[in-house]
Amino acid sequence: MKNIFLETYGCQMNEYDSELIRSILAENNFKFVSSQEAAQVVLINTCAVRENAHQKIFHRLDELKGMKRRGEIKVVGVLGCMAQSLRKDLAEHSPTVDIVAGPDSYKKLPNLLNAVSESSAKGFDFSLSEFETYADVTPKRLAGVNAWIAVMRGCDNFCTFCVVPYTRGRERSRTVESVLNEAHRIESEGFKQVTILGQNVNSYSSEGNDFADLMKQLAEKTHIPRIRFTSPHPKDFPRRLLHIIAEYPSLCKQIHLPLQAGNDAVLQRMNRTYSKKEFYALVDEIREIIPGVGLTTDVIVGFSGETDAEFEDTFEVMERVRFDSAFIFKYSERKNTIASRELPDDVPEHLKTERIVRLNELQRQISKEINQSEVGTTKTVLIESVSKKDPNQWLGKTDQNKGVVFTAENLKPGDFVEVAITSATTNTLLGEIATPVKKPLKVLSLSI
Ligand code: SF4
Repeated sequence: MKNIFLETYGCQMNEYDSELIRSILAENNFKFVSSQEAAQVVLINTCAVRENAHQKIFHRLDELKGMKRRGEIKVVGVLGCMAQSLRKDLAEHSPTVDIVAGPDSYKKLPNLLNAVSESSAKGFDFSLSEFETYADVTPKRLAGVNAWIAVMRGCDNFCTFCVVPYTRGRERSRTVESVLNEAHRIESEGFKQVTILGQNVNSYSSEGNDFADLMKQLAEKTHIPRIRFTSPHPKDFPRRLLHIIAEYPSLCKQIHLPLQAGNDAVLQRMNRTYSKKEFYALVDEIREIIPGVGLTTDVIVGFSGETDAEFEDTFEVMERVRFDSAFIFKYSERKNTIASRELPDDVPEHLKTERIVRLNELQRQISKEINQSEVGTTKTVLIESVSKKDPNQWLGKTDQNKGVVFTAENLKPGDFVEVAITSATTNTLLGEIATPVKKPLKVLSLSI
């Protein structure tokens, strides 16, 4: 049972964790296959942040149940955040699932898999560690343009709606040296963009270095052309970092700043520990220090007790700040969170729907206006892939992380090009190549 098919759901941290899992298992002679048909083992790296993520995975487990019954696969493993949060249910009540391993248990996977294949027993491990950072594991990355480095894991903030502190444990950071070593490896492997990850990335702290120190060293000591990070917390965003981002061209002029709500009472119930006024002040400072910065956010509508007036405050913040884009979600109660114990999920579904529709409409309008104001400008674009809609076109990203679609020949993913923006939609800039493409020099053979 050495052939594994690994599926990843959820955030960029999960993508990164899947690279760690690939590395740990490959070191132990397991093989990863690209199709389920060639696998005896299916591992699902899961997300627990929202209810629909859970539903997706339960639906997938139903499919795998049939495959297991027909003998098409032998072992099913559930890994990651959902494995940690629903450990007992999965371990005791799901006959489909053979292995359950939380985010700090990946080094135990080879033993768990070997034990399961030698007997019909199940294998579980969901111990959380105060120290595990996987700094000693070299992630097995798929070749491409983008790479990730998790510099810290866990979260100590305990926002009342969030399950992360329970699924990923306490905050711990890697040393600057280990992050730089990984960055140099990424550079030598030819990746053009790295995203620095942490559940609460600006809580990074190691040997007297804070997150601003780490980003400065990455900018100074590597030649990676684009360096991003996600996600910071507005309560303690290091102001020094703004000047560092403004100073170094490789640090992208883009910040994802989760708002979650724009009303002080809701923010307090969420335990976000900042106010609407403080959020405005931070946004003003960001825009003053980094002109033209791309700002994106996350918002939850219909959190416990959210009144019409409280929602209107969130609407007002979105209207005033004018984010480039936003991920807006309806509140869904997560098991084991503070909110699930102390705050009722009492906003009726129809009101949550009404509010998300209004906020999405507002955001679509704002995103479209901002994008259309880019028409006539020229952007430096990093090509990431062919466009999903039209394989004859390229999809690339600006420094502000905006998608740009354009046509050009003799290019490839990883190339940087100047693109003149000719039109725009809500989500995408459209353009045409502005710089002549450098063609390879012809080698002349001279006969003497
Ligand atoms: S900062 Fe809050 S929302 Fe973010 S991971 Fe920590 S507890 Fe969850």
